[in-house]
Amino acid sequence: MDLLEYQGKQLFARHGLKVSSGEVVDSVDGAVAAAGRVGYPVVVKAQVLIGGRGKAGGVKLADDEAQVREHAGDILGMDIKGHIVRKLWIEHASDIASEYYASVLLDRSAKQPLVMFSTEGGVDIEEVAERTPEKLIRHHVDALAGLSREEAVRIAADGQADADVVEGVADALMALYEVWLEEDATLAEINPLIVTPQREVRALDAKVSLDGNALYRHPDSQSLSDSENEDPIERRAKEQGVQYVALDGDIGILGNGAGLVMSTLDVVARAGGAPANFLDAGGGSDAEKIKQAVGLILANPAVKAVLFNIFGGITRCDEVARGLIAAFVEIKPTVPFVVRLDGTNDVEGRRLLQEADLPNVYPARTMNEAAEKVVALAAGRSVEPAEVSG
Ligand code: GDP
Ligand code: MN
Repeated sequence: MDLLEYQGKQLFARHGLKVSSGEVVDSVDGAVAAAGRVGYPVVVKAQVLIGGRGKAGGVKLADDEAQVREHAGDILGMDIKGHIVRKLWIEHASDIASEYYASVLLDRSAKQPLVMFSTEGGVDIEEVAERTPEKLIRHHVDALAGLSREEAVRIAADGQADADVVEGVADALMALYEVWLEEDATLAEINPLIVTPQREVRALDAKVSLDGNALYRHPDSQSLSDSENEDPIERRAKEQGVQYVALDGDIGILGNGAGLVMSTLDVVARAGGAPANFLDAGGGSDAEKIKQAVGLILANPAVKAVLFNIFGGITRCDEVARGLIAAFVEIKPTVPFVVRLDGTNDVEGRRLLQEADLPNVYPARTMNEAAEKVVALAAGRSVEPAEVSG
C-alpha cells in the first residue's frame, strides 16, 4: 500500500527523521489558512500517488497569500499522469544547498535489506543508476544485525556526502532504516534528502510503501487503507473476498482458478488484447457470486469487453451456465461478454447459454477462440455468431 507524501513524512517524523512542518488541506481557502500558520515562504505540493509531481507543475513555491491562492487553485483538480489532485500539502519552504537521495528496500534476489544513497538527488534515480552507477551507493544489510551506526557513516562517506554532513546523513539513514523495519515498509525513499545552507539534513519528499499483509500490526496505518491509497475496485473486491488485481487494459477477465486466470491473461495478450484485471472467481458457480464479480469488472470504466473463462472440473459447466444466465438476466450487460465453457458437462452448459439467447453474450468453445473473439469485440469488430455444437 503506497502512502501519500504527507503520510510518509508523518511516519518519518515519528522515527526522528527531520521533515519540514506543514499541513494537509483540500481547498484553496484551506491552503491560504495553512500557509499563514506554517509561515511564508511555503511550498504547495500535490498529494498524489505518483512521482514527478515537480516536473508536472504539481510543486510550487509561494511567497505570499496571492501566490498560494494562485498555485493551490491551479494544482487542485490537476491531472498528474491520470491521478487527480484532491489534497495539497502546504509546507514551510526550505533553502537548499544540496539534494541527495536515500532509500531502503528489500532486495529479494539477495534476500537482504538494501540501503541506497547518492549525492545526485532531486532527479530520476533510475537515470543516475544507469548513467553514473558509481554515484549510487548500494549497501546490503544483515537483516538480523540491522544497520549499525558505523555502516551508516561509511555509506554516507563512500557516497561522497559533504564531510560536514556525513554524521547528519548517517542519522537520516539510521532513521530511514528504522522506518522501513518497524513500519513493515517494502520501500522507504527520500528524494531529495536536502542539505540546507545551515547544514541541516532533512527529508523534502517521502515515498513509502507499506506491506499490506502486515497492516494488522499497525493500527495507525490500517486506517489509511480505506482512504485514497488503494485502488477502489481492489478494495471492494477485498471486502467481498474476491481475488482481483487491477491492470491497465480494456478487456475484463474472469476465470475459475488462479492458474487458469493467469493463462487467460496470456492468451488475451497473445491475441493482441490488453487485460483490464485479474479476477479469480474460485470454485463457485452461483448467480450471486457471478453478479458480484461482474459488478467488480464493470466498475472499471475502461472495460470494453469481458472474457469469462470457465473450466469445469468438480464445478459442472451446466451449473455455471445456470448461474451466468441468472446473473446476466439481472445485469443486462452493456458490453459484450465472451463465455468459454469447457470441461465437465460443457456441451450442456453451452446449449443452455445459447437457448437463453442473452443479448451481448457470446459462447466460445476453446480458450484461443474466446481470446480472439473478445479482442475483436473490444476493438469494436463484429464476430461470427456462436458456434455451440461439439
Ligand atoms: P516530486 O517531483 O514528485 O519528486 O516532488 P518533490 O517533493 O521531490 O519536489 C520536487 C522538487 O521541488 C524538489 O526536487 C525540489 O527541487 C523542489 N522543492 C520541493 N520543496 C522545496 C522547498 O521547500 N524549497 C525549494 N527551494 N525547493 C523545493
Ligand atoms: Mn521527489
